Amino acid sequence: MKVLVINCGSSSLKYQVLDMTNEVLLCKGLVERIGMEGAVITHEKIGMDKFKLVVPMKDHKEAIGHVLEAVQDENHGVVKSMDEIGAVGHRVVHAGEKYAHSVLITEEVLKALEECVELAPLHNPPNLAGIAACQALMPKTPMVAVFDTAFHQTMPPESYIYAIPYEYYQKHGIRRYGFHGTSHKYVAERAADIMNCALDDLKIITCHLGNGASVSAIKRGKCIDTSMGFTPLEGLVMGTRSGDIDPAIVTYIRDKENLEAGVANDILNKKSGVLGISGISSDFRDIEEAAAEGNERAQLALKVFAHKVRFYIGAYIAEMNGVDAIVFTAGVGENDIEMRDIICNDLGNLGIKLDLVKNKVRGKETIISRDDSRVKIILIPTNEELMIARDTYDITKNLK
Ligand code: ADP
Repeated sequence: MKVLVINCGSSSLKYQVLDMTNEVLLCKGLVERIGMEGAVITHEKIGMDKFKLVVPMKDHKEAIGHVLEAVQDENHGVVKSMDEIGAVGHRVVHAGEKYAHSVLITEEVLKALEECVELAPLHNPPNLAGIAACQALMPKTPMVAVFDTAFHQTMPPESYIYAIPYEYYQKHGIRRYGFHGTSHKYVAERAADIMNCALDDLKIITCHLGNGASVSAIKRGKCIDTSMGFTPLEGLVMGTRSGDIDPAIVTYIRDKENLEAGVANDILNKKSGVLGISGISSDFRDIEEAAAEGNERAQLALKVFAHKVRFYIGAYIAEMNGVDAIVFTAGVGENDIEMRDIICNDLGNLGIKLDLVKNKVRGKETIISRDDSRVKIILIPTNEELMIARDTYDITKNLK
């Protein structure tokens, strides 16, 4: 069966088609600037050159229309007609407490996801727009929703309850949910495979370090804690997000800077993180270049970022009473040799010893700890699309 995977953002859309009989990627692409001037689709049939088309797309439905055309194109398409696509898998960011697993999309599911829009006002609406567009264009094809929050639903209450009046949890669903779940789950499963162990026997700390960043504690295959919370703002320092701060800072900045409602939130989401500290960029490559040239704020940004990752690693070792593997993934985790080095430096007492030579690698599944390191340190490129396709295939393969 061939599966189309759709990941809709507010103005962009990523897609892939995979043949799930052998889990082979057939094509992938990206639509950018949906609803804006200069909308563009970049499509790549695996093994062929990329194909780019600038064409007006006023909304997600038009964007998905172009995706379907590209997928069926005579030259760079991978199917003759959409009938060959057995199912569509959609990434959906927030399922609240409703779903701990991926689900077949029904009217009831759509209603439940509408109710979660309040919890993820930036993310769920484009996800739902993508589902609606696909349903309109492929009315007979089964669709599955795969949630970023689902994997973290196994967290115990002591991990997810905030110490604020309990009614706010009951009335408004204010609790920690966690995100990047599909990625944490994928790399944890890969780590078990690489170590030749059952996931059930392992304690793993997964570090998804990209523009957005989070760490998870995974014990016997189940997430017991993660660093993101009610929103993806909590936890680690990120590209432009502050991560954990004293909540009193919000009202303090608002008063001192005379900010209008919502601006403080914007500052913490878009102007903070390593960008805010360095004043240079949210991209670690730029910051490292500046740091190497002696820029002290760039150096500080890198240290603060690493400090927070180490802080969570330590906390999760305590929570799990040990750790067997630490996994690095996503843009920074997969590519940033220097950052992995700073994070893992001087943790020998915890049995964590990075091999500085093996660490000189980017974007490739590799064990990068020393042979005498009790804890394996593993670099694993994430593959959220494959996870979405797997769940979609599993849920739909026996449907009539
Ligand atoms: P997103 O959260 O947007 O999916 P990614 O996981 O793609 O983010 O990570 C993007 C980030 O990865 C970039 O902003 C950059 O900071 C970092 N990155 C990518 N390549 C490198 C590299 N070679 N060295 C250091 N950092 C890198």
